[in-house]
Amino acid sequence: MPRSSASRSEPTAAASIGGEFCVVCGRADVATIDGECADCYAKHHALVRVAQHPTVVLCPTCGARLVGAHWERSGTSALLTSEDLVKFLEPLPEVGIRRVHWEETGANPLVRTLTGALDIRFRGTERTIGVDLQVKIEHRTCLECSRRAGHYFTAVLQLRGLEERIKEPSRELRARIGRIWDHVLPEARTDWKNAFSWREEKPEGWDIYFKDKLAARAMARWMKDRLGAQLKESPSLYGRKDGHDVYRVTFCLRIPPEADPEYRAKPRTSSP
Ligand SMILES: [Zn+2]
Ligand SMILES: [Zn+2]
Repeated sequence: MPRSSASRSEPTAAASIGGEFCVVCGRADVATIDGECADCYAKHHALVRVAQHPTVVLCPTCGARLVGAHWERSGTSALLTSEDLVKFLEPLPEVGIRRVHWEETGANPLVRTLTGALDIRFRGTERTIGVDLQVKIEHRTCLECSRRAGHYFTAVLQLRGLEERIKEPSRELRARIGRIWDHVLPEARTDWKNAFSWREEKPEGWDIYFKDKLAARAMARWMKDRLGAQLKESPSLYGRKDGHDVYRVTFCLRIPPEADPEYRAKPRTSSP
């Protein structure tokens, strides 16, 4: 709203900043935007808005959160964290959120009511403001859990040590094989990675479940060459579906210890 030149020319001697004063409180020693000083502006405007219909979609089995089209943070608690909540805060461009202290005030498990005390910085000064938030909780089983629950796989890749009889403590063996898997997986072809369903820790290594036999076979063969491993394939009849037999294939990959990316860093120990 344009102010008249008459009011602008009022003798505001203390008006050091552009000769302006706050149209609300009359202060002339502070900067104004749209005619208001920061304090008055903060009284009349929500410095931090809350998103409309805040919803957290979480997997009741593993706690993963649906973020956009992806499931993230599998293994987290079903309790809302500040990581869940901060994305529902919409600060004005001039506002920086420093800290938020949340307190849950409602007891409904599907609609969580929270109040947040926000320490913010606005036009050079710190202040604390309060927000109220109602978050709807939506339970949805994540992709990985639904595959696991439906046992949806057609091939298993067993990652094992070289020896059939376990000599070393199996925790160490599992750690080593897990490291090797983590090391090679990023290098694998995208369609193989997409066929990967989930993995399970076994006393003697890891079982990697695939949705697709061909991808599992290609990956197993590539890992055999890549790691200097031994590969054995064994089909197993699983059942009948739509009038024909359904086979699941098991690939057993026996991996030498040298394939471990940390192998050379370890001191050699003489075997008995
Ligand atoms: Zn003011
Ligand atoms: Zn899940």
